[in-house]
Amino acid sequence: MLTLLKNTHLYAPEPLGLCHLLIADRRIAAVIADGEPLPASGPGVETVDLAGRRVIPGLVDPLVHFIGGGGEGGFGTRTLELALEDALASGVTTLVGALGTDALTRTPANLLGKARELAAGGLTTYCYTGSYQLPPVTLTGSVGSDILFIPDFIGVGEVAISDHRGSQPAASELARLAAEARTAGMLAGKSGIVFIHTGDAPTHLEPLREVARQSAIPLAQFLPTHINRTPELFEDGVRFAREGGRIDFTTSTTPALLADGEVPAAEAVARALHARVDPSRITLSSDANASLPRFDAEGRFAGLEPGRLGSLFEVLGECVEAHGLPLERALGMVSTHAADALKLTAKGRLAPGCDADLLVLADGAWTIDEVWALGRRVHRRG
Ligand code: ZN
Repeated sequence: MLTLLKNTHLYAPEPLGLCHLLIADRRIAAVIADGEPLPASGPGVETVDLAGRRVIPGLVDPLVHFIGGGGEGGFGTRTLELALEDALASGVTTLVGALGTDALTRTPANLLGKARELAAGGLTTYCYTGSYQLPPVTLTGSVGSDILFIPDFIGVGEVAISDHRGSQPAASELARLAAEARTAGMLAGKSGIVFIHTGDAPTHLEPLREVARQSAIPLAQFLPTHINRTPELFEDGVRFAREGGRIDFTTSTTPALLADGEVPAAEAVARALHARVDPSRITLSSDANASLPRFDAEGRFAGLEPGRLGSLFEVLGECVEAHGLPLERALGMVSTHAADALKLTAKGRLAPGCDADLLVLADGAWTIDEVWALGRRVHRRG
């Protein structure tokens, strides 16, 4: 089955102007410049005219708690699972799931089952093995064998550092974990990335630098998130990226987090670029369905709100509309950079051979008209 998407204003993410996209089954078969000959219409070729609307890659989200993350206020506050309909409408077509603060009542088997449910609904899903706390919780008994033998597991995370809810891991523990994930990743042709939850303790990213100093593990083996959570962590993150690391900003937020000094994600991108951070080292993640808890000055729980998958597309819009970033530049933060860091070679780009994951944007408004995932239209506005 061939699908011809005619008259797309294509961002691949680089701007290619007016083009036509030929999709064969799940993949992009050809990007055809306007004026070039098109395949003859007929049986077996479905033609859809997009009338010059902008088409961008489906978003790649490196941190989604699709079975819910935590519930730091007791069982009545457990965050909910992500619903398939919400996922399909969000514009995120590649989701990487992780356990969160709670790796006791939520399990890797549960995570894998949910990943398969979302995949059955048309999306592409992956998971991190392991947990906030060390020793890591796994499915097969070790991080290495989970990554090596289970296709869905591409790395380990979200491992907490500089946070009162983590297990306060020593540099030697982090180094051993990173080496295990890295080696298993190499053997399986995966990234073996170590996705890091960074808390607001003043040690910031120092535990990762300590690993790089004490071992042969490069900084880029880690992908630390929540780097915009406080101004101090943001400044340390800019230094970390300049030292060769990668940094991830969280797009979900709450009024309380902003009042506590969180740098809004779009502003964090603009400021990091202004500070001459290599753009390819910056990614954005939604932290969807995580608990975003508030603690008072004595560390007592004061309430929580869940993260939202839709925040990724919203922040992309803020990067463009409020901070003046060209769309093609902002798009890297939510597509190609994460795909490259996670070694998802068919994701994050609209080019021949890549998966046909794409968003059709509305004219004159920051809204998604259509979501296509693996060559199928999975959502339409209204
Ligand atoms: Zn986190």
